[in-house]
Amino acid sequence: MTDFIKKELDELAAAGLTRTLREFIPDRSALRGTLHGRRVVNFSSNSYLGLDSHPALKKAAQDALEKWPVGAPASRLITGTGPWVSELEEKTAAWKKREAALYFGSGYGTNVGIIAALADRDTDIFLDKLDHASIVDGAVLSRAKLQRYHHNDTADLERLLKRSTAARKLVVTDTLFSMDGDVAPLEEIVALCKKHDALLIVDEAHASGVFGKTGAGMMEERGLAGAALIEMGTFSKALGVSGGYVAGDRAVIEYLVNRARSFIFTTATPPMVCAASSSAIDIVMSGEGAYLRERLQRHIATLRAVIPAAATQIAPLILGDIPSTMARYEQFLERGLLALPVRPPTVPSGTSRLRISLSAGHTNAEIAALIGALQDI
Ligand SMILES: *Cc1c(COP(=O)(O)O)cnc(C)c1O
Repeated sequence: MTDFIKKELDELAAAGLTRTLREFIPDRSALRGTLHGRRVVNFSSNSYLGLDSHPALKKAAQDALEKWPVGAPASRLITGTGPWVSELEEKTAAWKKREAALYFGSGYGTNVGIIAALADRDTDIFLDKLDHASIVDGAVLSRAKLQRYHHNDTADLERLLKRSTAARKLVVTDTLFSMDGDVAPLEEIVALCKKHDALLIVDEAHASGVFGKTGAGMMEERGLAGAALIEMGTFSKALGVSGGYVAGDRAVIEYLVNRARSFIFTTATPPMVCAASSSAIDIVMSGEGAYLRERLQRHIATLRAVIPAAATQIAPLILGDIPSTMARYEQFLERGLLALPVRPPTVPSGTSRLRISLSAGHTNAEIAALIGALQDI
C-alpha cells in the first residue's frame, strides 16, 4: 500500500531533488548562525530589515507574554479576538492607508483563504506563471477556472482577459517575485483590471517593509496605494515575526471574516506574536524604518556592481542545472556564506539557482565578503 512513497522518494533522489531539513542555529539574529557546525553569514533569510532580533520587538513580545495568556486557544470568531490583535489590525489598516485590515496566522493561509473566498466556479482567475504557491493553492481550492499568463507579460494577460466571458474575473500577482527579485508591471496591471472589470489582489509579501515611503510596499512605492481590491502581505519577512494580513475596504474585510475558511476554522495567533508584529509596524513606519530601507538600498547598489540585474534585495544567481548549482552552493559555504540553492519544482526546470537575499542587518564587511566571493566564484 505504501510502495508509492518509496518509489516517489527514490525518483526524487535519482533526480537530485530530495528536500531535507537542515538544522540552522541562529545567533541572536537569523542573519548569522551555525549550519552543520560551520559558522555562516545568512544570505538566505527574508529578514530584509534585520528586525527579527530587534530589542523593541522582543520587548513587545515579552510584555504581552506577561500580560496575556501564552496562547489564544479559541478561533477568532469565538473568544480569540483580544486587544492585541485588534490593535494590530488597526495599525495595519492605518499603515496601508485602507479602511480595514484582517490578520491571519500565516501568509500562506491568507492567500488560500482570500482567493477561495473571492472566487467561485463561475470565476476566471488570472495568475502570473511565477506567482507564489499559496496563490495557486487558493485558486485551485476555489474551483474557479485557472488561467496562467507569462511572467510579467501584460499583453498575454490582456489576451486572456479579453477572451474571458466569466461573470467574475480575478487577477492575482506578487508585487515583488520571491525567486527572481523582479517587480510586476503594476501600473499596467491596475489599468487592465479597470478596463476589463477584473478584481485585483496584490501579494506584497517581499515588498512590505522594504519599499514605499512608509514601507507599506510596492503599491505605495509606485503611487498605487488603494488601487487594488486587496493588498495582502506578511509579518514573517521584512517585519521579522509571523502571520499574514489583508487590507482593503471595510465591506471586503467583513466579507472575508464571514467567508475565508482559513480565517474562520483555525485557532487565533498567540498574543505575543501579534504584539511583536505591531511593534514591527511602528518601526517600519518610523525614521528608523526609513534609515533601514536606505541602508538596504545601498547594499543593493553594491551588489548591482557584480550582478547588474539585481533590482531589489532578492538576486537570483541562475546556474541552470542542479549539479552546478549545488557545486556553487558548496563553494560559497566554504567561505562561510550561506546562499541556499533553489531547485524545481520551486523554480522551472533548467533555472536552478542560488537565491541571494540582502538585509539592512548585514554589515558592510559581510556585503564585501559576498561581493568578493561572487567575483571569485
Ligand atoms: C512567503 C510568501 C507567502 C507566505 O507567507 P508566510 O507568512 O511565509 O506563510 C505568500 N506569498 C508570497 C509571495 C510569499 O513569498
